[in-house]
Amino acid sequence: MSEPSIALALEAAEARLRSILQTVPDAMIIIDERGRIESLSTTAERLFGYRAEEACGHNVSLLMPSPYREQHDAYIGRYLETGERRIIGIGRIVVGQRKDGTTFPMHLTVGELRAGDRHHFTGFIRDLTDQQLTEGRLKELQSEVTHMSRFTALGEMASTLAHEINQPLTAISNYLKGSRRLLERMEGENVEMLRDAVSKAADQALRAGQIIRRLREFVARGESERRIESLPKLIEDASTLALVGTREHGIAVTFRLDPDADLVLADRIQIQQVLVNLMRNAIDVMSEGGAVRRLDIATAGGPDEQVEVTVADTGSGLAPEVARQLFQPFVTTKRKGMGLGLSICRTIVEAHGGKIWVESPPEGGTIFHFTLRAAPHDRENEDA
Ligand code: ADP
Repeated sequence: MSEPSIALALEAAEARLRSILQTVPDAMIIIDERGRIESLSTTAERLFGYRAEEACGHNVSLLMPSPYREQHDAYIGRYLETGERRIIGIGRIVVGQRKDGTTFPMHLTVGELRAGDRHHFTGFIRDLTDQQLTEGRLKELQSEVTHMSRFTALGEMASTLAHEINQPLTAISNYLKGSRRLLERMEGENVEMLRDAVSKAADQALRAGQIIRRLREFVARGESERRIESLPKLIEDASTLALVGTREHGIAVTFRLDPDADLVLADRIQIQQVLVNLMRNAIDVMSEGGAVRRLDIATAGGPDEQVEVTVADTGSGLAPEVARQLFQPFVTTKRKGMGLGLSICRTIVEAHGGKIWVESPPEGGTIFHFTLRAAPHDRENEDA
């Protein structure tokens, strides 16, 4: 081809690409093999809040929160070196970050483009924030966690009720025993009938006590399945769930994940419930007001094979009337609250051999901490 016709062909190709980028309904980003943004579709500009001229030339990690931001170059490097696919052609749910610092769950599919010996990657992104129930993994995760949280809530309620009802039942039983003793010393036309009735009432009180004991045993047994799980993955899934539908609240989420707090011994769904409960509480309180809305999730490897997770918010802090009995069931300040979330968190964390506590920092907001048992380290099976 002559030079002018190459130039014409190039111009035509560019015009085609521009028109695709302007009309493609999904957000689309093209990067080079060093991770630098080459083009941004109009939808992507709107989604992330950057104009194409602003974003082009920057590393694509610009559009991710930490710790993904720091890890992204290593992902591309590893893929180019080993050809091992972890996201390319597979697609997964990840967290994106807008220009204003706020984060959102998104579905990302990455395709590969080869031109000569150069690689380019195209990312197609769907914002999941506004979707109530999205297909695939999100739906699965959500239904697992919501199903389990209802089940756990029921268990927690049953156990509390059992405890509360047991005391009056014991009192009824004792009063009936006393009455029977008195009746044994009395005589009269109806005494025999009364003795019989009191005796039957005592049997029924005993029976109610047994039912309640069985219920408590059932709840206490609480089938939980503990496996070696990746803590960063649990946090990623839980935050994706917790962030669905929160776009309008403009909350910036940051993750500070300690590489030493990696594998834990945990029931995946139960620990996700704890994380989702803590994050949703934090989002709830920050949605009510406040100029700074930051949710900070951090992990730290600790001594004695323990890891610590913290969920910190910049909300209005704990109401004095709930602060002292926070982890008790039915303690709530919300109009529609059940007050079961934190007591369930405590039950789950303690069943995992950990502890949960709260801190009210002087600068405001609330920090929840909980610990989990670390699992033996095995980097081979790590899933990035
Ligand atoms: P519910 O959310 O149904 O009220 P929870 O047990 O999850 O039940 O929470 C109990 C109460 O604890 C809440 O009603 C709220 O007053 C308080 N609370 C929980 N998390 C936070 C937080 N991050 N900041 C301020 N208050 C909180």
